[in-house]
Amino acid sequence: MRLLPSSLVIHRLCPLADATKLLPIGYSRDGKLTHLARLETLTAYQRMTEASSHDRVKLHVIWAFRDPKLQREQFEEAKRKYGPRNGIRWLAPPGFSEHQTGWVLDIGDGDDAEADDNPLFERTKAFRWLKEHAARFQFELSFPPGNWQGVSYEPWHWRFVGTPEARKAFHPAGLRALWVWGRSLVEALRWWLHP
Ligand SMILES: [Zn+2]
Repeated sequence: MRLLPSSLVIHRLCPLADATKLLPIGYSRDGKLTHLARLETLTAYQRMTEASSHDRVKLHVIWAFRDPKLQREQFEEAKRKYGPRNGIRWLAPPGFSEHQTGWVLDIGDGDDAEADDNPLFERTKAFRWLKEHAARFQFELSFPPGNWQGVSYEPWHWRFVGTPEARKAFHPAGLRALWVWGRSLVEALRWWLHP
């Protein structure tokens, strides 16, 4: 059971990828934005899309890497949209977003743009396919329903955990876990007290 107040949302402190080493992994629907990710994320994603296309499922990258500056802009926007207390359920403050690691993808369905980055994604073929097959390509859902961190359920948000470095970042153990979750809790309390 969670012993913390239900309105407290804890985003994990995340390592920041070296942006100069990231590679293009997809484009926004309007073609204006190039999304970037680490080489290992790209390789795994390419293998995954190859497999999904055999099942006639079109995966589409909605978001990949976001640097802390962009994260700050989107975080502020989320607070305006959902209210200061609730924005944090949808977007992490800069420094605490999985998107800054280069291992994370928001995935959409190529045939259903309306479901991009919102709960409608559950209705898509892409989501059903990912639920069944993503683990085979070392992707896991970061925020399942009722996750202990208090982050909203995000069926579109998948993280790559196929290297020891990525696994350590998302599943810290021992002393490192104490440090990471300690820092994350302090940040969470800061936002909770001064939303
Ligand atoms: Zn995301």
